[in-house]
Amino acid sequence: MLLSGTVIADSRTVLEDGALVVEGSEIAAVGERSEIRDRYPDLEEHEFDLLAPGLVGGHIHSVQSLGRGIADDSELLEWLFEYVLPMEASLSGDEMEVAAKLGYLEMLQSGTTTCIDHLSVNHADRAFEAAGESGIRGVLGKVMMDQRSPEGLLEETDDALAESEELIREYHGSFDDRIRYAVTPRFAVSCTEACLRGARELADAYDGVRIHTHASENRGEIDTVESDTGMRNIEWLDEVGLTGEDVVLAHCVWTDEREREILAETGTHVTYCPSSNMKLASGVAPIMEYLERGIPVALGNDGPPCNNTLDPFTEMRQASLLQKVDRLDPVAIPAEEIFEMATVNGAKAAGFDRLGKLRSGWRADVIGIDTDKARATPLHDPISHLVFGAHGDDVEFTMVDGTVLVDDGEVRSLDARSIREEASEIALDLEAYRESTDDARP
Ligand SMILES: [Zn+2]
Repeated sequence: MLLSGTVIADSRTVLEDGALVVEGSEIAAVGERSEIRDRYPDLEEHEFDLLAPGLVGGHIHSVQSLGRGIADDSELLEWLFEYVLPMEASLSGDEMEVAAKLGYLEMLQSGTTTCIDHLSVNHADRAFEAAGESGIRGVLGKVMMDQRSPEGLLEETDDALAESEELIREYHGSFDDRIRYAVTPRFAVSCTEACLRGARELADAYDGVRIHTHASENRGEIDTVESDTGMRNIEWLDEVGLTGEDVVLAHCVWTDEREREILAETGTHVTYCPSSNMKLASGVAPIMEYLERGIPVALGNDGPPCNNTLDPFTEMRQASLLQKVDRLDPVAIPAEEIFEMATVNGAKAAGFDRLGKLRSGWRADVIGIDTDKARATPLHDPISHLVFGAHGDDVEFTMVDGTVLVDDGEVRSLDARSIREEASEIALDLEAYRESTDDARP
């Protein structure tokens, strides 16, 4: 397949009149359109305004999609324990599958081709199946919670680890190795030391399995960990083995100098979630300090209840603007660097090699973006447009591993209409459930 248009091959390389050829699951060639046309005269040409590497959601909760809008304007721990966790606990297997599909649908429609996905405690297998069917690339994990957790989610440590291991055996490397596993403790507050140490042992026992958790999102969280362990949160995670090049920590808003040193020394990945941090008023993550120390930073939308969208373009824009206003520095995090976070840095966090740039021999995860609109006129700088001006709705074409999943705005791998209908029906039940628990509250 030959795709042509303005090609953003990576943050430093834009071909105004470019083209790329996809063979199987890989990119076979990238270059000037005339040169590619000469080399592949028999291939039919598919023209786009802009072509770019697929974007990577470095911290996502697909299965929270049904909770979009249920807990706006509330504080993190209330948001989590009063709304989001009870919602997760109440979902049946069928409902979990619909929730996950709604998440993958939104991501594929808006240009996210890889996600690092924090599922829930129960029915994780249904989300793995949904991800496989959707065609998305993902590193998914069943959530583990073995202390300070509500009924329906609290589990025995051994059970949490045993179920995680079963899922690794079943799904790690599945669906042509598009789907991989991350051992996923929810956060240190809701996991015992045995659970956290067990997570490290499990990840070490299987090649390529990663670790994904939340860290230092909120001041209440770090106070709790400090009173439990006598250590700062990142120091504690380091103590129990949850730092390193195979670890992805979402947020890292509240860290001190020593903790930043640990992140840098261990090569731990940080996922910056600016919309979520703003909406829950968690704070401003010290991303400039991380970048200055060489800590790898990816970008993530977090979950629909705290965002409220999985649009990766919105996230790129917020990522830059929040650092500018926090530092009172308009130069803070330029568009090219944000674009790297959303592409190649995310790919490294997810642990996929040859991903996040459009290069010969790299994996064929590609998006096509429509710029035939007032918002994109004039188009001086395509990367600046993607970071500051584009929306998920501008994505008209999505390819993962060489397979076209969205074409002309239509999703091929999932039935978008029926997923949205089912999700709306389940959400009505959730509303009734929430009203009944509201009545029961003093
Ligand atoms: Zn999260």
